[in-house]
Amino acid sequence: MKGEHMILPVEIYGSPVLRKVSEEIDEDNEGLTALIANMYETMRKADGIGLAAPQVGKNIRVVVIDADPMKKDDSTLAGFRRTLINPEITEYWGEKWSFNEGCLSLPGIREDVTRPGTIRLEYDDEHFHQQEEVFEGVKARILQHEIDHLEGVLFVDRISALRRKLLKRKLNDITKGKVDIGYKIRVPK
Ligand code: ZN
Repeated sequence: MKGEHMILPVEIYGSPVLRKVSEEIDEDNEGLTALIANMYETMRKADGIGLAAPQVGKNIRVVVIDADPMKKDDSTLAGFRRTLINPEITEYWGEKWSFNEGCLSLPGIREDVTRPGTIRLEYDDEHFHQQEEVFEGVKARILQHEIDHLEGVLFVDRISALRRKLLKRKLNDITKGKVDIGYKIRVPK
């Protein structure tokens, strides 16, 4: 498979790896370049716009984002691609707002989630160069969703208890692998 990118199975709701706090990594992390390439490939094949390492079974603090395909709905997302290593949101401000979120680990579920509008983000890029950026709008939204994954948090944790109760059957079906989707998943044991 040398030189080829691999599609990795996506961990779905019920998998313990999605619930752990992921670890920071350093430059010596073996296989990181290949992992990042495989995460991009996996995300794009699944029509995702963001993917965190726990979603492919690795509890390390790595996120890939490519929201460029969403530019037809939101022109601010044109060219929005980032590889984030050890990302940390250091500041939140701006009005909280609600947006309909989905997740490759929660196939078939979409819910309105309320989050802060603007964030300051510190991270290392794929060359381990330190970066600091401010994001707002849907970009800030995507980043907050992905960084939640590194803390073991899923967007269904951020909706009301009532909404979550209404989703219970759907969530149980996902855990059992009873989902109709076009990408490879790993069904929890
Ligand atoms: Zn997600």
